[in-house]
Amino acid sequence: MNLIVSAPSGSGKTTLLKKLFGLYPDRFGFSVSATTRKPRQGEQDKKDYYFLSLEDFQRKINKQAFLEYEQVYDGLYYGTLKSETERINDLGLIPVFDVDVKGGVNIKNILGNQAYSVFIMPPDTEVLKQRLINRNTETPESLNKRIQRAEMEIKYADKFDCIIVNDDLDKAVNEFVQTVNKHVLCHG
Ligand code: ADP
Ligand code: 5GP
Repeated sequence: MNLIVSAPSGSGKTTLLKKLFGLYPDRFGFSVSATTRKPRQGEQDKKDYYFLSLEDFQRKINKQAFLEYEQVYDGLYYGTLKSETERINDLGLIPVFDVDVKGGVNIKNILGNQAYSVFIMPPDTEVLKQRLINRNTETPESLNKRIQRAEMEIKYADKFDCIIVNDDLDKAVNEFVQTVNKHVLCHG
């Protein structure tokens, strides 16, 4: 099985995934994406992302190294490397794809019933904005881009196998862990 998790930026996807990995440290392998975005403070190359120049990213597109890729924000590319799924499968782990909504729908279409897709929904755009402000990672410009994009992304929610509204964190973690348990872990 494979697990796909998508959400508008700031919805709490990273927080929920960390909880899941904490509960099941030996079952999942995080698919490390490639990106042309600059690392945030504390992010490590090859662990959080493969941080690439635009030229290197383009070279990988030409070599057909990506399962999927998207220009998620103006000028910023993100992509899932085919080599990541092989690496994780070879380790006997369940690949987890943390991708934007279009990437999530694309991977689900490629993997079909070998994948379970979860959409993490923010309670509303105001809360989303406040969480992004509190996270302290965005400039006013990148904050606006993320909020604008969120409105488009929420329209994709019903294309996913499951929607988790992340309002109360403990409740969202419980729902997330339960659905992953039932649809992913129980299928090996
Ligand atoms: P994403 O990975 O979807 O961009 P994060 O997991 O980084 O989102 O969460 C965005 C911010 O919101 C973080 O600072 C996180 O600690 C906070 N957060 C996540 N879930 C909740 C919640 N249910 N209630 C309040 N704050 C939350
Ligand atoms: P961030 O810059 O906050 O790390 O990520 C921005 C968005 O890009 C998030 O929605 C994240 O899920 C998405 N993303 C990360 N990696 C990939 C990827 O490999 N493919 C696609 N399509 N989106 C990705």
